[in-house]
Amino acid sequence: MQYSEFGKTGIQLSALGFGAMRLPSFEKDGKTVFDHEAGIKLLRRGYELGINYFDTAPYYLDGESEIIVGKAIKPFRDKIYLSTKNPIENASGADWRQRLEKSLEKLDTDYIDFYHMWGISLEAYVNSIDVPDGPMEAAKQAKKEGLIRHISFSFHDDAKNLKTIIDSGNFDSMLVQYNLLDRSNEEGIAYAKEKGLGVVIMGPIGGGRLGHPSETIKNMLPGKINSSAEIALRFVMTNPAVNVALSGMGTMEMVEENARVASNSTPLSKDELLQIESSMEENQKMGDLYCTGCNYCMPCPQEVNIPLNFKLMNYHRVYGITDYAKSEYASIGKVDWMKGKQASACIECGICEDKCPQHLEIIKQLKETAAVLEKV
Ligand code: SF4
Ligand code: SF4
Repeated sequence: MQYSEFGKTGIQLSALGFGAMRLPSFEKDGKTVFDHEAGIKLLRRGYELGINYFDTAPYYLDGESEIIVGKAIKPFRDKIYLSTKNPIENASGADWRQRLEKSLEKLDTDYIDFYHMWGISLEAYVNSIDVPDGPMEAAKQAKKEGLIRHISFSFHDDAKNLKTIIDSGNFDSMLVQYNLLDRSNEEGIAYAKEKGLGVVIMGPIGGGRLGHPSETIKNMLPGKINSSAEIALRFVMTNPAVNVALSGMGTMEMVEENARVASNSTPLSKDELLQIESSMEENQKMGDLYCTGCNYCMPCPQEVNIPLNFKLMNYHRVYGITDYAKSEYASIGKVDWMKGKQASACIECGICEDKCPQHLEIIKQLKETAAVLEKV
């Protein structure tokens, strides 16, 4: 396993982090049951393979993830670094504190190493976090008391807002999205390193879905890698500003394979990176033949998020990562960062088609998008 110095904390963290949001489960009497024993086994195997960063959150696995992680790390609690998150439900520091205490209880531990303000935007930071008697004051107090060791944030907002949160000077580390398909936070990641923050990446393999075999991606470095997951992970780990690539792992094979990749001390060479970048550019051009994401067609009176629907359709058409595209499609309108409606909400009024500089047959393509991405 490779390790690196995590921002200014003086801690060495493993290049691979264990995300505990996809631990094993099974169905019983129509209900999902989370298999604590199997989950503990996986997490402990991760530890044996050198992982020392374990990440969970109060809502993962219907609230059971924190409990499973707490049990798994018990024998080696002082040798690993535990990360969990506090959902910012309001601007109250007292409420924030209650949620922290609940997490400590579920994790059955006295302290959390990296405690995140969960999924924040700049707007949430300004209006609900860094306010009098708010979560930031409560976090500083909890740190003084030793309940948390480092204050962190996870970010879901326009990339341009990332630097402002970093500049607040209130955080030791951050957790942001970054992968082969979405490099929008790249500048912010480099900036965070410059400012001394540790950087953890969520979704390095596109929420696990880049791990599904995609010949298009695998062929970017023919003969040199085993899987599209490997190229995706190595791409993220090669970025010198990245400390930890956090992967949500649910099978032993995944843990073994990702740990193998994270133990490879050779970063991708300049030539390999160039090769990947030029393939991605080629793919981008192909995607642009369908939709450039220019947004001119918006707004749609039915609130269909046309560019987002087409972007996901391109994941299927251009990169062959259909499972990923489908799961993202299912999230449209359900999470803050994917506003609007799915392709199937189109009523074929035609207003958008006149505005598209690519003269795309938007209605027809939305129908195709719905047909492909809504199919289970
Ligand atoms: S045709 Fe469909 S997508 Fe286009 S503006 Fe009308 S409802 Fe919206
Ligand atoms: S105007 Fe056309 S190219 Fe631009 S986002 Fe809309 S559909 Fe895509």
